[in-house]
Amino acid sequence: MTDTLPIDPPARLLMGPGPISAYPSVLRAMSAPLVGQYDPFMTHTMNETQELYRQVWATENEATLLVDGTSRAGIEAAIVSLIRPGDRVLVPVFGRFGHLLAEIAERALAEVHTIETEWGQVFTPAAIEEAIVRVKPTLLALVQGDTSTTMLQPLEEIGAICQRHGVLFYSDATASLGGNAFEADAWGLDAATAGLQKCLGGPSGSAPITLSERAVEVIRSRKRIEAGIREAGDEDAPDFVRSNYFDLGMILDYWGPRRLNHHTEATSMLYGARECARLLLIEGRGAVIARHELAGRAMLAGVEALGLAVFGDVAHKMSNVVAVYIPEGVPGDAARTAMLEDFGIEIGTSFGPLHGKVWRIGTMGYNARKDTVLTTLAALEAVLRRHGVAVPAGGGVEAASDVFAGRA
Ligand SMILES: *Cc1c(COP(=O)(O)O)cnc(C)c1O
Repeated sequence: MTDTLPIDPPARLLMGPGPISAYPSVLRAMSAPLVGQYDPFMTHTMNETQELYRQVWATENEATLLVDGTSRAGIEAAIVSLIRPGDRVLVPVFGRFGHLLAEIAERALAEVHTIETEWGQVFTPAAIEEAIVRVKPTLLALVQGDTSTTMLQPLEEIGAICQRHGVLFYSDATASLGGNAFEADAWGLDAATAGLQKCLGGPSGSAPITLSERAVEVIRSRKRIEAGIREAGDEDAPDFVRSNYFDLGMILDYWGPRRLNHHTEATSMLYGARECARLLLIEGRGAVIARHELAGRAMLAGVEALGLAVFGDVAHKMSNVVAVYIPEGVPGDAARTAMLEDFGIEIGTSFGPLHGKVWRIGTMGYNARKDTVLTTLAALEAVLRRHGVAVPAGGGVEAASDVFAGRA
């Protein structure tokens, strides 16, 4: 006996830096019936999903698949599989997730070198090249969009720099993919990973990844270890990947034509990830990016019209999230609670040097829409006024409406 009721979450509009409200059809896809691991339908669906994500990433990479787990599962798989203990890794850090990449590389026993820029800024290609020349890394690990600062690191020129210096180029595009341009092949990426819970409009729990031929060669050159088999290698510093779950060599064999058993693919997440990509491609890559750009511009105009100061270098902001300084005298957490309890709207708090200083408001995936932007601005205006801030009546909604109507 139990008196626990069936799950019944409150209605929420998730307008933070992620996770965001999923597209309804993604949730529907995830409730489709399960099939067995080697059912022809399953392998066909895996192949379809690979093909969809090749288009999402703008790549011809055969090695395009899903790592099961949240975005950091993809990050960890890429890093532990691509670097050997003692390899030098360069991580330019412009927010919290750069620190995460450095930490994961450190755990993988890399010799990690970081360069840092102030939060709210990005790196110039020259600064990254200078560090590459100095450090001579095997791998450059660079976040594209860091939600902790809202900044979007330009990647267009980085691939050519890495190629010139024989460095593998990996990017964490979790926060940006779908809402901002990403061109895996044209930009010379060797590895890129993402998650569903930002612009792709799904729940967290699946990490799309794409790997260049060069990256696959590196992964394939690692010594193999699996239950009962251990390839001969240097016994002091064995070369095998220090994770079974995140060993991309094994995961590639599972997704590839050999279909060697590894983990049991997370079937419902596969359905969800497939639907996220399908929706994106039906709408069109360019159209989805333009929708994020429009919603982001409208939200930016709206918060500015409410008199809020925007954090960071706006010229390098991701389209899908904005950080605003919490006005003097307003208790940031109490205001966020009022947004949630009175309006059912979630906006984000902040980490590290920005903790308690800014709110982060996202417009991503399913929620990159006019109604969600206007509703959030109307609620924010009411909450600010209640906390004694003199906000212009209707100003935020009007400014955002003007953007949507093409008047601003
Ligand atoms: C949100 C975000 C993540 C999230 O990782 P999870 O494991 O899914 O929580 C990773 N990287 C970046 C850059 C992000 O913005």
